[in-house]
Amino acid sequence: MSIRIPYGRQTIDDSDVHAVSETLRSDWLTQGPKVEEFEAALAAYCGAKHAVAFSNGTAALHAAYFAAGLKKGDEFLTSPITFASTATAGIWQGAKPVFIDIDPETGNIDVKACEKAMTAKTRALVPIDYAGRPADLAACRKLAKTKGLVVIEDACHALGADYGEKKVGSLSDMTVFSFHPVKSITTGEGGAVLTDNLDFKNRLSEFRTHGIRRGEDWLYSVETQGLNYRLTDLQAALGLSQLKKLDGFIAKRREIARRYDEAFTGWDELETPSGAVEDSAWHLYVIRLRGALASKRREIFQALRRAGIGVQVHYIPVYFHPFYRNLGYSKGLCPKAEAFYARIISLPIYPGLTSAQQEEVVKTLRRVLNELGAGAHAR
Ligand SMILES: *Cc1c(COP(=O)(O)O)cnc(C)c1O
Repeated sequence: MSIRIPYGRQTIDDSDVHAVSETLRSDWLTQGPKVEEFEAALAAYCGAKHAVAFSNGTAALHAAYFAAGLKKGDEFLTSPITFASTATAGIWQGAKPVFIDIDPETGNIDVKACEKAMTAKTRALVPIDYAGRPADLAACRKLAKTKGLVVIEDACHALGADYGEKKVGSLSDMTVFSFHPVKSITTGEGGAVLTDNLDFKNRLSEFRTHGIRRGEDWLYSVETQGLNYRLTDLQAALGLSQLKKLDGFIAKRREIARRYDEAFTGWDELETPSGAVEDSAWHLYVIRLRGALASKRREIFQALRRAGIGVQVHYIPVYFHPFYRNLGYSKGLCPKAEAFYARIISLPIYPGLTSAQQEEVVKTLRRVLNELGAGAHAR
C-alpha cells in the first residue's frame, strides 16, 4: 500500500497561490522587494533585529558558520541527533564538528557535557531545537559567554516555538531556519538566519551574493569567497503568505500533539515526548519504544508503512554515515544518542492532519503493537 498519511507535509491554500502568481507578474523574480519584506516580517515575528533569507536551510547554516568566522582548524560543538547538514555545513568552512551526547528525555544537546569537550580550538556551539522543542538556550548562552563561543542555533524545526516569554529566533547569536515543505512554514526551498548583530548580518548578506559589496555607478568589489545563496521573490511571496498563518499552523500542531499524548496515556510500550506541549513548534512527534520492544522497531516501522502510515526515524546519528566514518568518527561516541536512535519513530504531524487520520494512526499503531509486542509486553 502506498503512503496515505505522510509524517509531514505543507499546507497551501488559495492565498498562497495568489501571492506567488502575483509576484510572477511583477518586475522582480529573483531576490528583490519581496525578499526584503519577508525578512522584515520574519525578524518582527521572532523579535530579532535582522533576518537574512537564503536559498535553503543548509545554505543558511553555511553562511552562519562563515559569518561566525569558522575556518580550518576550528571546532564546533553540536549533537548527532540532527539532519546531517547541521554538521556538514560547518565542514564546508573547514571546521570540525565535535559531537556532544544528548539529553535522552528531549533529544537536545546536553549542555553540561559541552564544557568537558572544549579545547583551545572550540569556536561555536550549535544546539538543535530537536522536534521543535527549544534546546536549553539559557545554558548555551551562559556557556558561550564565559568561553567566548558563538551560538548558532539550528532552529530548522522550531520556527514558532516559544522560550519563556520570547520566540525562538531572538535567543542566540544566530538562529537558522529552514522553509522546506515539512517545516513550520514553506517557501518550497528556503532558509534564513536571524541575528541582532549588525556585523553578522552584513557578513551573511555578503556571503549570500558572491561576497560582493556595492560601490557607486558600476563599481562593486568582491570582498570574500561568497556564493549565490539567494532566495527568489517568488519564494519570499509564498513565505510572507505562509508567515501570516504560522501561529495557526503551530496551534494545530500543538493540538495534534496533545491528542497523541492523550491517546497514548497508559500505553506501557512507549514513551511520549516529554516537556510542555505549549513550548514546542511540534515539527515532529517522536515516540520512544520501551524496553525489549525497541528490538522490534524495524518490524513496527514496516508494518505501519505497509498500512499506509508514513512514519520516519529522525535521526540516524550523523556520525554513523559513511562520510563521517571516513573522517574518523566511530560508533560509541555518543551512547545516549545511539540508544535514543534505536528506540524512536516519528508519527505523522502537520496542520492538515485530520482527527480521523490521526485516529487511524493511533488505531494502526495499537494493532501493530498488539501483533508484534505480544509476548514482549503482557498487557
Ligand atoms: C531541514 C533541516 C536542515 C536543512 O534545511 P534545508 O532547507 O533542507 O537545507 C538543517 N537542520 C535541520 C535540523 C533540519 O531539520
